[in-house]
Amino acid sequence: MKTEVWESKVYDIAPGICAYIAPNGLARSNASMVAGTRFGIFIDALGNAELTEAFRAEAERRTEVPINMLALTHSHGDHVFGAHAYGNVIQFATKKCKAEADADPDGPSDFILTHSLVYKKGQSFRSPFQVIYEDDLEIDLGGRTVLLHDCGACHTASDVIAYVPEEKVAFCGDILFNKVTPIGSGFHAGALIDALDWLLRLDCETYVPGHGPIANRADLVLARDYWIFLWEQAKAAHAAGSSAIDLAEDLDLGRYESWTEPERVVQLFECMYRELSGVDPLTSKPTFNVHGERLRMAREGRRVHPLTRDEQEGGDET
Ligand SMILES: [Zn+2]
Repeated sequence: MKTEVWESKVYDIAPGICAYIAPNGLARSNASMVAGTRFGIFIDALGNAELTEAFRAEAERRTEVPINMLALTHSHGDHVFGAHAYGNVIQFATKKCKAEADADPDGPSDFILTHSLVYKKGQSFRSPFQVIYEDDLEIDLGGRTVLLHDCGACHTASDVIAYVPEEKVAFCGDILFNKVTPIGSGFHAGALIDALDWLLRLDCETYVPGHGPIANRADLVLARDYWIFLWEQAKAAHAAGSSAIDLAEDLDLGRYESWTEPERVVQLFECMYRELSGVDPLTSKPTFNVHGERLRMAREGRRVHPLTRDEQEGGDET
């Protein structure tokens, strides 16, 4: 089966609503913009100033109103580190997102800055948030509303979905990886499935993921089913005493075989195993070198696809 491919560019979802869809690869994330009749808002930044500035220029060409706000879906650097390049925007983040960012204030390490294709020295760093909220927030842009909904601790301590009901579009952050194997240093599988179910209950037609191409409802169902599939496999194997590595190596991905970076499943299973052992995956460390195992599996052709340069050289997680 062929690995998924898509075109990286800024897509117009409706007049005054657009999304930059990144190419495949570690820390290559998506960002979006929604404009009303009075104001506009960015949803997420990109991992460095150059990428963020390029998207800002494209977004500004699509509206005459000031784009003076930024809502962050979560604290990860690939969605945050370029935010300063949006200029004087008011940044909205949840209280838990802020706490997570405050615990990691320095941004990417020198090692990551040296090796990542996305994070750049002098370009990738955290900038202060201005509006801190909890649970939900409604922003009136004039004629369009952005509803920010915190799904709780899923892929990070706080994962927000931005929903525009007038246009039936949702910006899902890293709750949704579309046609891309999810990755993250920690997550709660059950909470992620609940969040995807919450998305499925919305009156919505277009879903912009944190990584991968723009999704429709069928794609969203597939993403939800993927998590259920892995979670059930992990529960059964954990109960049977199999290791997470054996489970990943023997897994038949079936209808998910075309998703990019399939060897990432070893990391997903390691994380699920911690959760099944009663350890919080979001606040604990992996029990083995998941990055090394991931690369070994890809190298040995266990999950065959060409590695991106980021993966060959290391880099931060998304
Ligand atoms: Zn993330």
